[in-house]
Amino acid sequence: MDQNYHQQKTPHVLIFPIPFQGPVNCALKLAELICLSGIHVTFLNTDHIHRPLLRHTQVLSRFSRYPNFRFQTIPDGLEHEKPVSGDRFMEVMSAVDAVSKPVFREMMSSGSLSRNSERPVTVMIPDACFSFAVDVAIETSTPVVCFETISPCCLWTCYLNLPTLIQAGDIPFKGNDLDELVKSVPGTEHILRRRDLANFCRSDDISTPVIELIMKEARAVPRAQGLILNTFQDLDALILTHMQNLCPNIYPIGPLHSLYKARLTTESSPETTFSNSVWKEDRTCLSWLDKHPPNTVVYVSIGSLATMTINQLLEIWHGVVNSGKPFLWVRRPGSIIGGLDESLVPSELLERTKEMGCIVDWAPQEEVLAHAAVGGFLTHSGWNSTIESIMEGVPMICWPYFVDQQVNSRFVGEVWKVGVDMKDSCDRLIVEKAVRDVMETSRNMFAQSGNNWANLAKKAIAEKGSSSMSLARLIDDIKTMSL
Ligand code: UDP
Repeated sequence: MDQNYHQQKTPHVLIFPIPFQGPVNCALKLAELICLSGIHVTFLNTDHIHRPLLRHTQVLSRFSRYPNFRFQTIPDGLEHEKPVSGDRFMEVMSAVDAVSKPVFREMMSSGSLSRNSERPVTVMIPDACFSFAVDVAIETSTPVVCFETISPCCLWTCYLNLPTLIQAGDIPFKGNDLDELVKSVPGTEHILRRRDLANFCRSDDISTPVIELIMKEARAVPRAQGLILNTFQDLDALILTHMQNLCPNIYPIGPLHSLYKARLTTESSPETTFSNSVWKEDRTCLSWLDKHPPNTVVYVSIGSLATMTINQLLEIWHGVVNSGKPFLWVRRPGSIIGGLDESLVPSELLERTKEMGCIVDWAPQEEVLAHAAVGGFLTHSGWNSTIESIMEGVPMICWPYFVDQQVNSRFVGEVWKVGVDMKDSCDRLIVEKAVRDVMETSRNMFAQSGNNWANLAKKAIAEKGSSSMSLARLIDDIKTMSL
């Protein structure tokens, strides 16, 4: 058998995430799980997101122990060093489309990842948002499985059903009654109001770049051979049943961060820390939490992309302080529009914050949520934050910002019953009431449903659990597709 023939039979997965901290973090976990099975993995990062990762020695040293893993980069034309915030999402996606897409097509058709290369890619796993990668996979006859890091409830309602929503006249709806139910999406007819749809639906124009991008994704995802989702069967049973009519081959492997931890601790070299975070975590907040009794602290974070105005900050700040609960607050540099001018903050608020608060730039969130002291999570409802909170049974106070977050917060409040959805308001009275609801008034109800979901999540990632079995099936399918 000649050498070339043999190499072409070696399963080799290409993982290609969109260049934002959350999706890259998830994709690294998936990459490591695939590596553990012995399959070769190339992790393709655009330059912009790879630069900060290069300074993250912990991640680099962890991956350096896998001879079957390599990073590769692709230009994106983005100059800035600092991670971007959510308001520049489309700028990044347009840069990738203009600069990375043609390079990628060349890499896959005749370049370093092509059939003629030393180690051809046998299966591609791009972020579902990269519809062009699905096109390139089809052009080059490479099997492709999309990886979606947003929530299945939003993927189904606002992405895969975007054509349905438009056709039914449910969007655009700017200025119309936001409390009207959206009846055109199968499965969520009695759940979603207009205000619960993804924020890009609140437009009076359906020819915006973001809607175009999502339309492309809606067309591309069903053309892939499979779809990997960060959820577990029990949590999203209703949505998954409907989604299978469009995408029959779904791999629900969530909560991915916990499945990942479970696999890595049972492998030969047990890990003590699992973070792939591109930013430096301030671990001093864990010893601050140690000083508090169980379920007494509110954790506040709006993730890696969301921003807030100074007025919104002050409203939330007053609300949390007035609730009387101690709080741990992540204030990511750049997350307050225009920066924080302390002269605008009443001195009493600063004084009370010294007494009852701890503020950090970036926290080890998974460990924070697992800490006994944390009794509630005021969150922007990003999907990773939501599923991390569900895993730990921590009830949420939701203040959604963009992408899938409006849908997630509705599901948290109405479907999973694990928190309060503040949706479009962060008035200090509303915040104070929501914090009290979650921490005191409705604590038992939230604790009960929270524990129920947390137990089901644990079952899903156990050895024969649904998510573990999905991962095993994915790995088997990668090997079969590589033949
Ligand atoms: N995160 C973290 N430290 C923080 C805040 C967030 O490690 O101080 C992590 C969090 O655990 C989650 C991710 O950042 O995995 C945020 O992802 P999510 O999908 O919730 O929101 P996004 O940042 O994509 O808007």
